[in-house]
Amino acid sequence: MSKRLMLKLSGEALSGDKGFGFSESDVLKVAKQVKQVIDSGYEVAIVTGGGNFWRGRTSNKIDRTKADQIGMLATIMNCTYVSEIFRNEGMKTSVYTPFECAFTKLFNKDDAVKDLEESKVVFFAGGTGHPYFSTDSITVLRAIEIEADLILLGKSIDGIYDSDPNINKDAKKYDTISLGEVVDRRLSAMDLTSSIMALENKIPFFVFSMNEENSIIRAVNNDIDGTYVTVD
Ligand code: UDP
Repeated sequence: MSKRLMLKLSGEALSGDKGFGFSESDVLKVAKQVKQVIDSGYEVAIVTGGGNFWRGRTSNKIDRTKADQIGMLATIMNCTYVSEIFRNEGMKTSVYTPFECAFTKLFNKDDAVKDLEESKVVFFAGGTGHPYFSTDSITVLRAIEIEADLILLGKSIDGIYDSDPNINKDAKKYDTISLGEVVDRRLSAMDLTSSIMALENKIPFFVFSMNEENSIIRAVNNDIDGTYVTVD
């Protein structure tokens, strides 16, 4: 049984149909599911995206480094919000950032692992702290550091396809695929840097749709169609 889980929630997963900001009802659904997962004995770490607030890379009017910094700050807002909703549902949480921030903890592996062992939900906000990386990068990096057993990638699509199903109606979905193949074929489960880091450090992941009922619980219980990405 995978015990320590890293869950990546895209910004869209937090904003629901609105596509911007927070949808309290959607975040509440996530909270209730994670509570059930924690109560059944798993440890859960979470990275959120920032796309519900900022898509800086789509603008060529500002410097890329600054745009990325705004994106990283957006993830702090997201983690702070989600953490509070989780607390309101009775969970204990910690929010870590890779840089000093008055209202988060500075990331330290030992502290984060101790929190996980005490059944706290641990949030990794602020990305890597560096531009030109992504929230996928920090998802894989922290998963490796905390020695997670599995990364759960909650997306708006239900797995990895050989081509974009929105464009190609004959696109084929993989039930299982190796990280080597994901990298070789440049499949877009995560960005390439992150997929290569997962490959080099042998960390598997599971891609599933957040749009389905109780999808997080079902992903943990291997009870939802998605794509399992193996480490070979
Ligand atoms: N970002 C960054 N470095 C990091 C993590 C994130 O520069 O280590 C920035 C980057 O601009 C990214 C934004 O933060 O686009 C928000 O994250 P992302 O686009 O991954 O959010 P999502 O699409 O998952 O909602």
